[in-house]
Amino acid sequence: MTKAKTTKKPAAKNSVKKKPVPAAVKKTAPVETKPTVRHLEKKSAKTYQHLMGFKDYLGKEFLTWDLATAKAWELARAYGFAPIKTPIIEDLGMYKKITRSGQEKEFFTVDLDPGQKGALRPELTQGMFRAYLENKSEDSSLPTRLFAIGPVFRQEKVGGGRYREFNQLDLEIIGEPKPISEALIINAAYRYLKELGLNFQLQINSLGDSDARRDYTNKLNAFFKERGRRTNLCHSCKKALLKSPLALLDCREDACLKARESAPQIADFLSVESREHFSKVLEYLDDLNIPYNFNSYLVRNLSYYSETVFEFWPVGVDGNTNGRQALAAGGRCDALLSFLGGKESACGVAIGLERITARLKEQNAVYKYPDEQELIYVAQLSESARVRALLLFEELRLAGFNVRQSFSVDGLRAQLEEANNLQAKVTLILGKKEIMDETILLRDMESGAQETIAIKKVKDKLDKKINRKVGVIYG
Ligand code: AMP
Repeated sequence: MTKAKTTKKPAAKNSVKKKPVPAAVKKTAPVETKPTVRHLEKKSAKTYQHLMGFKDYLGKEFLTWDLATAKAWELARAYGFAPIKTPIIEDLGMYKKITRSGQEKEFFTVDLDPGQKGALRPELTQGMFRAYLENKSEDSSLPTRLFAIGPVFRQEKVGGGRYREFNQLDLEIIGEPKPISEALIINAAYRYLKELGLNFQLQINSLGDSDARRDYTNKLNAFFKERGRRTNLCHSCKKALLKSPLALLDCREDACLKARESAPQIADFLSVESREHFSKVLEYLDDLNIPYNFNSYLVRNLSYYSETVFEFWPVGVDGNTNGRQALAAGGRCDALLSFLGGKESACGVAIGLERITARLKEQNAVYKYPDEQELIYVAQLSESARVRALLLFEELRLAGFNVRQSFSVDGLRAQLEEANNLQAKVTLILGKKEIMDETILLRDMESGAQETIAIKKVKDKLDKKINRKVGVIYG
């Protein structure tokens, strides 16, 4: 007998022999089209990063951001500013109505219904005023001190503390034409920055009324156009000269700073009323012990400002101010409200939270909620105790105690370590024995002393040891 011809290759080491497929199955088996997990992993292996000009907040940085926000709420409440929340997208036309030169290019626009374009808000103030005017006819008791926090979007060059999405907190006083409203707004912003422990300098100037502004702009235009002067300006200032010579005063390029040294100053164009108004603002600041630097070139190049304008500039460890990275800015903006159809006067400030957070991070600011209360930690020692501990945790939380837990962690030592790290005042420990006896162990974290108490009495016992939070929605 001849040997059967073998064309089969020897099976490779470790290769798995294919099982013969039964004929019936072979005919009807559907073709496998579902992607396997490995398939998906391969497909989605591309990683993504945040876009330029946008930012993530997590871990300690988020806590720092949250600290800045919590402080804002605390002060806004104390000074009687009522919170307001407006949409992120508003009518593009509203923003276009009041722009500074070149600002239109900064809008992120959105197509809404046919013929209707929206814009991601480039600042909070306009939406706040729009909402106030829209609602006031129906509700005459609307507050006139408004406070908002939220993201704003600008399509601008990024870097050096400039983002395309950043968060502002905005305080506005509506209906008060007297200098006291500027003083109150400046005071609130000043205390906010001071209480966060930041180092800064207040820059202040007066733009006078619209006549003063118009005459000054004409004079400035003529000044920069004088022979030889224009050629030395930076490219964007040359372009801005025609439309908005005030923008030149904001420029930080060396050539432009030099050119403005002998430029006319707006102080020489102010009316008697404007001078008196500004003197009164400065007098209030003196009375409130708020130091300032009179800066005759601070013009806040937005057509809606008049009378007082101001900025808060950070001061570095070298003692130098940095005007390119202002922490906050504002002024009297009667014209903005009137562009939107209002007759009242208005005054406000916008504070940039990204820049505040960056400074706090540099200074290793300690994170603490202003209304943080003493903490109770709930620990559990067995599967059967876990659910009971969770229920107790909810009960205490709803009763207004500041409670923490880590129910996914096993082992008392790890839980006590966490309680220590959180600086808990008391840890409540529930194990099998305690469940059977309807008791709980209460450990004083400072002394380490432990006592067993009836679980029914736990709230009374805690009340004697710890303050509950009153009127706080979250902790
Ligand atoms: P403005 O609305 O331009 O007067 O800015 C008010 C504040 O918002 C500034 O003082 C900054 O703190 C902050 N801010 C303005 N533009 C940006 C930006 N592009 N990125 C981050 N913060 C900004």
